[in-house]
Amino acid sequence: MTDSDQTQKPGDALPRRRATDRIPHKSMLTIKDVAGLLHQRSRIDDEQYQLILKRGDAQAARLNSHLRPNQAKQDIYLAELASPAQVITSFSLEIPATQKKLTEDAITELIAQASGMEYLKIDPLKLELDVVTDQIPRAFALKNLVVPIEEKGGVVTIAVADPFNIRPIEDLQHALGIQIRRILASRSDILKILEEFFGFQASVRAAQVEMGLGSQLSNLEQLFKMRGRDEIESSDQHIISAVEFLLKYAFDSRASDIHIEPKREKSLIRFRVDGVLHNIHTVPMNLHPAIVSRLKLLARLDVAEKRRPQDGRIKTQHLAKDIELRVSTLPVAFGEKVVIRIFDPEILMQKLDRIGFCEREFQLYKTFINKPHGIVLVTGPTGSGKTTTLYSSLKTIATPEINIVTIEDPIEMVMEDFNQVGVQTAINVTFGTVLRNILRQDPDVLMIGEIRDRETADNAVQAALTGHLVLSTLHTNDAPSAITRLLDIGVPAFLVASTVNGIIAQRLVRTICLECKYDRLLTVDEQIYLGLEKKAYTVCEGQGCDACRGTGYKGRSGIFEVLEFTDQLKSRINERTDMAEIYAIARADGMVSLRELAIRKMLEGHTTFSEIVSVTG
Ligand SMILES: [Zn+2]
Repeated sequence: MTDSDQTQKPGDALPRRRATDRIPHKSMLTIKDVAGLLHQRSRIDDEQYQLILKRGDAQAARLNSHLRPNQAKQDIYLAELASPAQVITSFSLEIPATQKKLTEDAITELIAQASGMEYLKIDPLKLELDVVTDQIPRAFALKNLVVPIEEKGGVVTIAVADPFNIRPIEDLQHALGIQIRRILASRSDILKILEEFFGFQASVRAAQVEMGLGSQLSNLEQLFKMRGRDEIESSDQHIISAVEFLLKYAFDSRASDIHIEPKREKSLIRFRVDGVLHNIHTVPMNLHPAIVSRLKLLARLDVAEKRRPQDGRIKTQHLAKDIELRVSTLPVAFGEKVVIRIFDPEILMQKLDRIGFCEREFQLYKTFINKPHGIVLVTGPTGSGKTTTLYSSLKTIATPEINIVTIEDPIEMVMEDFNQVGVQTAINVTFGTVLRNILRQDPDVLMIGEIRDRETADNAVQAALTGHLVLSTLHTNDAPSAITRLLDIGVPAFLVASTVNGIIAQRLVRTICLECKYDRLLTVDEQIYLGLEKKAYTVCEGQGCDACRGTGYKGRSGIFEVLEFTDQLKSRINERTDMAEIYAIARADGMVSLRELAIRKMLEGHTTFSEIVSVTG
């Protein structure tokens, strides 16, 4: 035991205690112990301390009310019981003089300190599935509320939720002949890992047992050869639950995409989180087709069609919130690869004043979309958040009295408030053909996914001239170049001048994590690079913490350059107008550039120097 040093340091609030029971039927650390520690370290005041002492047991009983009333003590797993830290957290107390909530993580970290153990905030993306599930049986893990985290140089690191829970670990050490290092983690973290990792793994193993392959993965290849290319059915209950675990785990990890990739001998499952792919699971290859079939079935794709790419959708729920999944399949060398894109409606459809507009720009943009007719253009590169802007704008103007029709390629997210048409080039449903017929559908507002050619542009202009509001996107870098793009496509200058209400250009920047934000001064070089007047500027950075997975960033925000179609500008647009001229007029009319707005975002402490440089070049 590497942490056998349980000696009390003077001033420590935790008593010495040691588990003698082989089967822990209650937490050995008590609510009173933890309350005493919190009180001693000034995390709670006298009043809060008395409250916990008085109501702690009743609160614990309430949190544990799922237990059967006459369940024998020996049958209770530690995993089923709320920990003292959770019981205290459930009072949602505020740490005196800080306005900060007392969280389970903060309490657990303090307990670790007081008991001389290392504390770990578990990041599931950093765990290896095999280490977690191969070292100890699931029942043991649940009974003792422990989870293996890492194996290095013959030492297995195990996270425990109770610092006094020593005996079972010693037993495990003797039984398996391994070295174990104990660290402390919160019950919530440990439970989450146990559910997600063991849940998925148990389903996969059970599915294999069903196939008669046994649970020994090492024999798999041999058996695989013997049995030929047998595949398990996608209707198998274990496959169904494995897919459920996988989706839930992806939602919990804030993943934006799930990749399921067939390799020669195994199927690799990866998640993209904050723009980076992480390996999550590997699954025996013979289960790959079953998992893919299950997803295809959910997305209403043709399960039998395996040689052609397909696209479909799954609508599901997580934490009482609708989530939309776009499933696409692609035949690759070893089978079908599936990519699932996860759309969070709370990201795609937000209140317009929450997506990052500065005040002047926001007021201007609102006048564009509140006009009864005309064209509003949103420009920017792929991934700059144009869809969020369009959806959020439509949502703002949607009322029961108006008919909103969208033409998209493909439909990003299905919304009941709009009538959405997806472009399907294969059957000749294109922007052009839909637009030709759509005016007969009596729309008030039209959203056209993208203006790419003359025909689409002409239709948009036509719709605007006949009294419709048209929202669309163009693939240009800034707002003024959208005008020259329209002229290049072939739209007559007088029509551009008379139909366009306004143009915005946008970018997304990552915002600094609020948990680990700190101040620094902008260096002289950085000031020169940004062309700023020489003086002291305070900017912020993120240190990197558990909340942001060490990146220093959490969430993203838009930057919006808004080009107003003033009389001055309109009168100067003609077939020979060039970029420089439009830009000069726009500046004279008060347009603030993307770069300037980005610098403002940085100086206000929302984002970093490096982020605005990488986004605005
Ligand atoms: Zn952070």
